Amino acid sequence: MVQASGPKRPQRRIPLASTSLATTVTERLYYTDAYLRTFDAVVVETADDGRRVYLDRTAFYPTSGGQPCDAGTLGGVAVVDVVDEGERVAHVLAAPLGAGPGATVEGRIDWERRFDHMQQHTGQHLLSAVFADLYGLETVSVHFGATSSTLDLGAPSVDAATLRAAEARANAVVWEARPVTVTFEDAAVATGLRKPSERSGELRIVSIEGIDRSACGGTHVARTAEIGPVLLRRVEKIRRETRVEFLCGARALAAARADWETLGRVAQALSAAPEEAPALVAGLREQLKEAASARRRLEAELAQHRAHDLWERTAPGSDGVRRAALRRAAGGMDELRALAHAFVALPRTMLLGLVTDPPSVLLATSEDSGIDAGAELRRVLADLGGRGGGSARIAQGSVPAADALERVVAALGV
Ligand SMILES: [Zn+2]
Repeated sequence: MVQASGPKRPQRRIPLASTSLATTVTERLYYTDAYLRTFDAVVVETADDGRRVYLDRTAFYPTSGGQPCDAGTLGGVAVVDVVDEGERVAHVLAAPLGAGPGATVEGRIDWERRFDHMQQHTGQHLLSAVFADLYGLETVSVHFGATSSTLDLGAPSVDAATLRAAEARANAVVWEARPVTVTFEDAAVATGLRKPSERSGELRIVSIEGIDRSACGGTHVARTAEIGPVLLRRVEKIRRETRVEFLCGARALAAARADWETLGRVAQALSAAPEEAPALVAGLREQLKEAASARRRLEAELAQHRAHDLWERTAPGSDGVRRAALRRAAGGMDELRALAHAFVALPRTMLLGLVTDPPSVLLATSEDSGIDAGAELRRVLADLGGRGGGSARIAQGSVPAADALERVVAALGV
């Protein structure tokens, strides 16, 4: 998916005064040899106090086409970014390079990182070819991430069987160790490309023998065997496309290992074998649902019993309304609400619930009490600097501090 830079056009930039080398087009050594790990090059220009370095040639791959740049060292200094500036490649260093224009420096590529990118990138070419050839699913876009990569297929959904078959086919091609080659061909006559290139002039074409021909400027392995295992994982619907996460090589191995360990921890928590875990979890979920529904039923019954008990113990006021106040510590609001509902289901009742942390109040009234809970609570809270509201039957609010709670009790005449 990475497009090769177009044909090298003659340099038209005005030469910099400092050195005539400054206009040199950077020769990209990775175009013809992705396995080059160390190289010597001549410094043609430095900028940013020696932290931005231009060379006559480089094996460093710059961030482009969705593939992250290489890391490594230049003249012993860490390379933190590699920027594609069209005709030149800028090497951004962690510290100034101790050499100026004309000096020869050694570049060393962080091979572990580079080879990982080569595996992911070639794996992507292979997967895109397999999805297109087996299922007519075109790759719309690709993203290479630090831990996993994704390709977006031009279909609103891709079923599990298709994903399994595509993964199996990709791995079979890996085992065939097919050659992956790079050729430079004229765009006007290059045929059989998976995606027609919009570029003219010379194209860099990456071919997987008998499978795929794509115009691409990225770094690739030389044989499909080097891609290593290909693993498809998360699938996500993105608008009208399907995003498929894929891992190749060491990443696939590490993910499979991590998945196995995760499953092992789940199985251990269930005191079961890993293969028994899914059925056990499904059974536990069902049991939990039943237990929760039984608990809700019992809580409602208990609230009714306690409401009756409270009703018996509460003397009616001169207006015949039984006013009760209940106090709870932090987290008591749910229990108070259940009890309030049960209490105000009884004749001529009002229940005031108070929770200390955070300082909050609940007011519930029965319909025949003649008391509008929402209006009453708003009136009382307004005087105390609190806030709240609700319906005529049940209302809730808060006060600035716990010591205001007893003033709510007094104001409501409980
Ligand atoms: Zn590529």
